[in-house]
Amino acid sequence: MSELVITGLHARVAEREILKGIDLTVRSGEVHAVMGPNGAGKSTLSGVVMGKPGYEVTAGTVTLDGVDVLAMEPWERASIGLHLVMQYPTEVPGVMLNDVLAEALTARGRSIDGLTSQLRTEAATIGFEERFLERPLNVDLSGGEKKRNETLQLAILAPRIAILDELDSGLDIDALRDCARRVEAMSNEPQAAGEPLGVLAITHYSRLLHELRPDHVHILADGRIVTSGGFELAEQLEADGYAAFGSAESEQSADRPVERPGSLDDLFSL
Ligand code: ADP
Ligand code: MG
Repeated sequence: MSELVITGLHARVAEREILKGIDLTVRSGEVHAVMGPNGAGKSTLSGVVMGKPGYEVTAGTVTLDGVDVLAMEPWERASIGLHLVMQYPTEVPGVMLNDVLAEALTARGRSIDGLTSQLRTEAATIGFEERFLERPLNVDLSGGEKKRNETLQLAILAPRIAILDELDSGLDIDALRDCARRVEAMSNEPQAAGEPLGVLAITHYSRLLHELRPDHVHILADGRIVTSGGFELAEQLEADGYAAFGSAESEQSADRPVERPGSLDDLFSL
């Protein structure tokens, strides 16, 4: 069984403290939802765990099965089984999906035999059109297609622990259901390493969690987990908004554009 353990994590961005002491443990087969208003530090948390440049960890530890993750390069973190599905998937002109996956699997010491047929099967499961498999990564795909594509990559790579940063942003209801169901299934079935996927699902809205059923729900506000519980927390949030949890921002006022172009730097997760 794998275990991602985050303890006392403090981090700064541009000289400002954003994470103010995060404690969180995600084990194989568990689905943890981290919910919070915009600006709470959700993407910062995912970036710090994956090693995205620009964050300064000032205190705390992150380990995967006892191994110090913070000392590793982003690609090393990916190779030991941490995977991030980004809030805004990157378009990478000139780079083909199957090449990226073949590289990533090889780097993990895994076989690429049957990759093409596996891709077809996964595409069908997730509702990702097969013709997009022959396209450069995410180029000219809609928001929903990009997230289906990211989910397909997740399913093929089958990491130990997946961090989903607002998988639901930019998704229509059908894509949301297909992606969430696929991740839910991964959390219930043994993956490449012989254990079910552990999931840290970061989300603003509870709608994702109707298909991807969390075992634990945590509310993140102003860089701290202010409360943790079960699915009932997400339901309470749906009814009352974040204000009930001490955040000034209501769920309604928290909308913001769901798409923006990524940069090559964002490829760190591969
Ligand atoms: P969330 O994902 O919960 O909406 P973020 O983690 O993206 O929140 O951001 C938390 C805070 O950190 C916000 O106030 C945001 O403006 C700030 N922040 C994030 N990234 C940067 C950056 N690169 N430079 C300056 N401030 C940043
Ligand atoms: Mg975010």
